[in-house]
Amino acid sequence: MLALTERPEVISFAGGLPAPELFDLDGIRASFDAVLGSPGVLQYSTSEGSPALREEVARRYTADGLETAASELIITTGSQQGLGLLATALIDPGDTILVEEPCYLAALQTFALAGARVVGIPYDDDGLDLDALDRMAAEHAPKFFYTVPTFQNPTGRTHGLGSRRRIAEIARQRGFRIIEDEPYRQLRYSGDPLPSLAAFAPDHVLSLGSFSKVIAPGLRIGWIRTTPDVRPTVTIAKQAADLHTSTIDQAAAAHYLVSGRGEPALDRIRSAYAERRDTMLDVLPSVLPAGSTWNRPDGGMFVWVRLPEGMDAAASLGAALAQDVAYVPGASFFSGPPDERTLRLSFTTYPPASIREGLSRLGTAWGAGG
Ligand code: PMP
Repeated sequence: MLALTERPEVISFAGGLPAPELFDLDGIRASFDAVLGSPGVLQYSTSEGSPALREEVARRYTADGLETAASELIITTGSQQGLGLLATALIDPGDTILVEEPCYLAALQTFALAGARVVGIPYDDDGLDLDALDRMAAEHAPKFFYTVPTFQNPTGRTHGLGSRRRIAEIARQRGFRIIEDEPYRQLRYSGDPLPSLAAFAPDHVLSLGSFSKVIAPGLRIGWIRTTPDVRPTVTIAKQAADLHTSTIDQAAAAHYLVSGRGEPALDRIRSAYAERRDTMLDVLPSVLPAGSTWNRPDGGMFVWVRLPEGMDAAASLGAALAQDVAYVPGASFFSGPPDERTLRLSFTTYPPASIREGLSRLGTAWGAGG
């Protein structure tokens, strides 16, 4: 099925791919050129990461309301590596960890590979089931709760202020950590920014960040905002994994941030994605089968759809592919029994005209319009 979604004629809403035409090629090229003036960028460097880059990332956290020192940060090869390093550092086989249900698929895979028992906490349009979080924490004494608090992958959902406070309070009371994974935080198109979970429980929260969605995923640069108790273990895990993230990529990223070209490029990305989200939300009512529901995310890359009773998103993918359009059935994002009616649509990869065309094909496939 996956191979079929990659045929060139397919308009795929399946991948969580940033729009390639919005990558700031000129700005990034200028930064690589500039840093290649010195041979140091081709040398080995420290496991924690480039001091200049850590300084820039720390400055951005602090400006965003979360006071952060460069020494708290460990640069990783994408935030995916951050997840892997935290799994290595924190999980002993048989440990229980809690996740949102549904949850980012590659996080589920990372935790399962580390030998964790994964317990899902129901998460729907009304928010996370906070009583279930408290109950499961009491029952299982989990090592941590993993959350994508802002514009979640796969659902686009965001925890409101009250939920954030309560999640942090439960973690403090029950004595477990939180891993908050924030690759989409800066992709906000409407609504007010919300504080990080780390602001409510500084000793309990490890935050992951990434440039993948705000500069380019091919850079493979992310980071962990660590607490002091895990920092040494995570640093050793990083050293064992790959010694350090590419010196030249870190140097170019730091140069790019200081150059001031990142903000206008991110503004262009945000305004293009806002238009794409609005296009998708405008068209969905005329192409989805009657009785479908979906959310209206304030940012990120994804809309989460629930098909009407009796439909199965995986079984319906064949008809969509026959019309050259693709999506991800929601079932793979569940750690427990899946909701077979759900699916994920990404709205960032294509310009509005292609979004309209792709959704029209979906309408044709399902006989709902076109
Ligand atoms: N976490 C989440 C929630 C994601 O959606 C992704 C990318 N799809 C990642 C982590 C990994 O991103 P990267 O390694 O490119 O930073």
